Amino acid sequence: MTVSSATLIEELRGKIKGIVKANEPMSRHTSYCIGGPADLYAEPADIEDIVTLLVESNRLGIPWYPIGDGQNLLVSDHGIRGMVIRLGKPLGYIKVDGVRVIAGAGAKLTKTMDVAMRHSLAGLEGCTGVPGSIGGAIVMNAGTKYGYVGDVTRRVRVVNSDGSVQDLTPEEVGFTYRGSGLQSGGRIVVEAEFELKPGSKEDLISMVDRLKRRRNMTQPSATKSAGCVFKNPDDLHASRMIDGAGAKGMRIGGAEVSTKHANYLINTGNACASDVRALAERTREMVHDKFGIMLDYEVKLLGDWQDVD
Ligand SMILES: Cc1cc2nc3c(=O)[nH]c(=O)nc-3n(C[C@H](O)[C@H](O)[C@H](O)COP(=O)(O)OP(=O)(O)OC[C@H]3O[C@@H](n4cnc5c(N)ncnc54)[C@H](O)[C@@H]3O)c2cc1C
Repeated sequence: MTVSSATLIEELRGKIKGIVKANEPMSRHTSYCIGGPADLYAEPADIEDIVTLLVESNRLGIPWYPIGDGQNLLVSDHGIRGMVIRLGKPLGYIKVDGVRVIAGAGAKLTKTMDVAMRHSLAGLEGCTGVPGSIGGAIVMNAGTKYGYVGDVTRRVRVVNSDGSVQDLTPEEVGFTYRGSGLQSGGRIVVEAEFELKPGSKEDLISMVDRLKRRRNMTQPSATKSAGCVFKNPDDLHASRMIDGAGAKGMRIGGAEVSTKHANYLINTGNACASDVRALAERTREMVHDKFGIMLDYEVKLLGDWQDVD
């Protein structure tokens, strides 16, 4: 039985309340608007659906990959062999309880910050303008030098691969620069609790406005990209190194190193994943030749890259 066989799809559809599809183009679910088909694609309606999907995938030996809003993904043109589990709207709730904000993994990070600000709660404003879901934000420790989600996270609820539900402390999540221990996979984030501080709504609004203006000045807007492709090496700026290596504006196929922010590799309209990957590899080589440092990917490469690796 192939992963996407009709019998399997029908079986899964009968077991969960959410959506199950076969051969779903990942270009529909990534900010790059790039990516071949996932054999199986599911949008669970609730935590019970997630538990069922994991138990069934394990029983059938189907690999599974959780995603949020696809703002940090480069999916291969050959697609993904296995099941993509996308956490979206059904898990998009945001609740406020005193200084605590509790958000489902499918809630937008920016909306969560807005809700906190409306309640005069400070601590998430460093994430101004960072696109994506709460699930992705926890796994990636999203944020900026003005603050990361990991700084204010008190509890993360996950579904483990055996279907058990568990609450993790920040120490157990293991937040790092642009990452966490959850990146190794095997768990799906379903909820996060943030502990914030009472603040002045006016001050928060003016800080967020300032950060938005700054982002608009320094980063390309309205482009198909995944933000910064590479992590900053210790105390260094990847974008300055890429610029210094002469890669700014370089193109391969439809992919281009942004002339506004060199750590953004953008899809100018018709790029495929192999264009972006080839451009990223060429950029790494040029930076290595010039500075002796090999940049690490921040963007997550998902799917079948066998012809490249
Ligand atoms: C224009 C632009 C600007 C950006 N600027 C910034 C920035 O300033 N700072 C910053 O930190 N990031 C930035 N990013 C990157 C991106 O916004 C963050 O990494 C974001 O947290 C990704 O969230 P997502 O929901 O889109 O996750 P996805 O891209 O869908 O997934 C990212 C990773 O998290 C995993 N994942 C997602 N959801 C779950 C879940 N529920 N359970 C388990 N694993 C999960 C995926 O498997 C994958 O490994 C930018 C991106 C863009 C497009």
